[in-house]
Amino acid sequence: MNKKIKNSSVSLESNNFIKNIIKKDIIKKTFNNRYDKYGNKLPQVITRFAPEPNGYLHIGHAKSIFINFELAYKYNGLCNLRFDDTNPLKENKEYVNSIIKTIKWLNFNWDKVKKRIYYASDYFDILYKIAEYLIISGDAYVDSQNTEEIYINRGNLHEPGRNSPFYNRLPSESLNLFRRMRSGEFKDGAHVLRVKINMKSKNINMRDPIIYRIRHVNHYRTNNNWCIYPMYDYAHPISDAIENITHSICTLEFQDHRPFYEWILNKIDKTNFIKRPFPKQYEFSRLNLTHTITSKRKLLKLLEKKIVDGWDDPRMPTLIGMRRRGYTPESIKLFCKRIGVSKSDSWINIEILEQALRDDLNIKAPRIMAVLNPIKLIISNFLDNQEIECTAPLFSRQHTQYKEKLRYFPISKILWIERDDFMEIPTKKYFRLYPPIGKNSGNRVRLRYGYVVECTGFKKNKNNEVVEVYCKYFPDSKSGTKLSSNYKVKGNIHWISKSHALSIEARLYDRLFIDPYPNIVNNKDFKLLINPNSKKVISAYLEPNLKLIFPKKHAQFERHGYFILDDIDSNNNKIIFNQSVELKNKWKKMM
Ligand code: ATP
Ligand code: MG
Repeated sequence: MNKKIKNSSVSLESNNFIKNIIKKDIIKKTFNNRYDKYGNKLPQVITRFAPEPNGYLHIGHAKSIFINFELAYKYNGLCNLRFDDTNPLKENKEYVNSIIKTIKWLNFNWDKVKKRIYYASDYFDILYKIAEYLIISGDAYVDSQNTEEIYINRGNLHEPGRNSPFYNRLPSESLNLFRRMRSGEFKDGAHVLRVKINMKSKNINMRDPIIYRIRHVNHYRTNNNWCIYPMYDYAHPISDAIENITHSICTLEFQDHRPFYEWILNKIDKTNFIKRPFPKQYEFSRLNLTHTITSKRKLLKLLEKKIVDGWDDPRMPTLIGMRRRGYTPESIKLFCKRIGVSKSDSWINIEILEQALRDDLNIKAPRIMAVLNPIKLIISNFLDNQEIECTAPLFSRQHTQYKEKLRYFPISKILWIERDDFMEIPTKKYFRLYPPIGKNSGNRVRLRYGYVVECTGFKKNKNNEVVEVYCKYFPDSKSGTKLSSNYKVKGNIHWISKSHALSIEARLYDRLFIDPYPNIVNNKDFKLLINPNSKKVISAYLEPNLKLIFPKKHAQFERHGYFILDDIDSNNNKIIFNQSVELKNKWKKMM
């Protein structure tokens, strides 16, 4: 795939070819006169999101969910959630529940479009009847070649395929065999059911595709009712038609499957199983995100190789992982809107995703101070037990309650500040704390929402590490007071009173992959592309205002970035924060 990265955002409005198709269909009244079995008129747009319940949803699925739900919403239509559960080997109820829960969490108009949940496995009976119909009409035959023979005789991109020796089997014989397949008489792989199209077709998907195979496995919904299961390519168009889907939107790799999608619907046109007008398939390019993989199979490898801690590891691009990382439904929606929908494959720069999160949290996340790499700052002219209350806004200026919502915290003699807010020997343009040098006094900074202080000295331990920094404060410099403006300082640092600080664990996350294109690399090379520093766990201190970040639990740690209280590992003794995204993009320089 070409490695062109899309950095800029395109709006959904300007670049959605599917909308244009829908608009034309509405004008032409393609789907106008349709009624359900109760005689209710059906809307002109019914889309569906159709995942296979064989894994957790990832950010790529979010794009598909967004497109389908938004289109339905925009055109007063409906969007079905359909589980394409025709392959029992890897599917289970846990995935179904997780998918439903995640879509509810995303809330992409899920509340506005009626909650319609369907299962392809509910159509097993009808799919079976259609298969029998195709056998009787001479359009399908039971093939008894083994898997390898079928594979060889299918040909390849350069060579046409060859008809199966069972191609001319009488319908009555095929029907008999098919019924015996269904009743469990044969082992897995003994026979398959194929449709007759054209073994010489340029499109390999049209070379007599298999529509049923024997699988003696339990299905999580139908248990052991069936030992033959329909293939996805067969079940999907029929499921779409049964559900009166109008626009069946899928990713580009299904483009070559479209002729079969149309073929099968046309073949059963004369039956009562489905009704015209038929759904139509349209393809859009799947989401490829730099520094990320969006394939369930490859994500599983990360777990198997213990590179991440679970499906909901905050570094995972699964939606449960992203949620734990601090992504909000609104930020994901904003991202989907910004990247738009197109037909050409490209890479989306992960910065677009990160920026969407910043833009969303900037407006709504409460501010709080946290010191992540602490060193003591001692104010020598403060009394030992003295405490003075300081006030700060809880939200950013853009927030509607910027003026009303305030937070309060004390300043006292001993504070925690960031280690890099002090330098023994300052570099050029360093405006934060440094000690007196020669005749020059130490540097002055403002302690955010508190006082201006001047550095007076520091202490080192035996290992030559600075352990304490000393300063004096100016009592008339308090933020918000009249005289404070007399103090002009260039540095403005955050701090927390030591005796009031809350101890927390902060988990600092970075991109999981150093390589921008891990999606297109073989599994065996995978490990080489991993960022060894994608997770760092540190002890830190938090301003004593934890309760103010509830109920959403997002916060901006001032000067650091956005964090979220971890729901899963935090408990009464341990307060754990996951870093969502830094305030600024430190990778920019490196890319
Ligand atoms: P994976 O490759 O991760 O297993 P999938 O395509 O097999 O994904 P499904 O459960 O079949 O997963 O996907 C449900 C829907 O989500 C499909 O319509 C599919 O096209 C869409 N989808 C999956 N991955 C992406 C992606 N990266 N970008 C956009 N849509 C996607
Ligand atoms: Mg799939």
